Amino acid sequence: MRLSIGKLLGLLKRSVAFSKPHHVQWMVTRRCNYRCRSCDVWRSPSLLRELSTDEVKRGLDVLRRLGVLEIVLSGGNPLLRNDIGEIIDYASRSFITTVYDNGSQAVKKMDALRRADFVAISLDTLDENKYDYLKGVHGAWKNAMNAVQTLKREGIPVGVSPTISQLNMYEILDFSQYFTERGVPVLYCLYQHDSVKQPLFHIGEVEKDLEIVDTEALARICKELAKKKRRHGRILITKKMLNTLADLYLERRRNWECKALQSFFMIDPHGRVAGCHLQEPAAEIFELADLWRSREFEKLRMTYEKCTKCSYMCYMFYSLHANIAGNFEIVMDQWRNAKVVLHPGRS
Ligand code: SF4
Ligand code: SF4
Repeated sequence: MRLSIGKLLGLLKRSVAFSKPHHVQWMVTRRCNYRCRSCDVWRSPSLLRELSTDEVKRGLDVLRRLGVLEIVLSGGNPLLRNDIGEIIDYASRSFITTVYDNGSQAVKKMDALRRADFVAISLDTLDENKYDYLKGVHGAWKNAMNAVQTLKREGIPVGVSPTISQLNMYEILDFSQYFTERGVPVLYCLYQHDSVKQPLFHIGEVEKDLEIVDTEALARICKELAKKKRRHGRILITKKMLNTLADLYLERRRNWECKALQSFFMIDPHGRVAGCHLQEPAAEIFELADLWRSREFEKLRMTYEKCTKCSYMCYMFYSLHANIAGNFEIVMDQWRNAKVVLHPGRS
């Protein structure tokens, strides 16, 4: 990654601003070439039009003015968009930009990915057959391994993102060891299914054999990961997050208040904004500046703070770290990892 002084200063300034949304997940397309068992995205394609390149760019301008620091481009597979290079290029001038890939497109779209701050390749296991089964595609494991190795060789900041479920949880420590030893960061997700079939943003599909039933083992794994983290900076999960997960799974205690539509929100491929993918869209992206401080949004925030409908890890993370110290930590992590370009303007 190359981080310009201009971008760094902009990020630092926005990281200390109060009442700003700092993290956005933008699902830029619903299209996907994989058939994952735990996902509903490919089962229910949308008939609505995706935003055009110019509309996405205008949307990014809205987010920058609102104070957003970090954008995660996901989908579907965001790399299936023909204009993804232009979108990453534009986003990475202002935001810490992470792009997700299921491993099938990253090598083909390497030039586009050179502008991203971080590329996360989904990969759940070192067992090829198990992974192909989970993804519903023969060759998925080989694609993902090849993507990680190729991007790393090319100097593109790449990590692996396993979704921890009952099917792979006992191997997650060995999996983490394997990649961190090879200099590849690991960024964790946790299997969840949506409590209700959401008509607009439904993602997590019910899959009985993935449901975590051995909750004690999960809590133990969290403790072990916390120990490993002390030795390996490449375990990308905070101690606070690991403790919160252990409490949730062992004691059924939720130690966080949800900060949906405060510190984070989600945007769908059509530009609709919602606190998270389980809530109804609350606005179009181009209305955000006017609505951000509205009573309507305040009422929604109060409802979401009391909501206990999900424990998706990304939402937990953004809620737990929704303060200036948390933002500052994120920006400084980028600074430490960056090759700094000493001229203002472009990254
Ligand atoms: S989980 Fe990701 S890769 Fe798998 S089908 Fe869903 S969007 Fe595609
Ligand atoms: S807890 Fe938060 S992220 Fe989860 S469904 Fe409720 S509002 Fe959404």
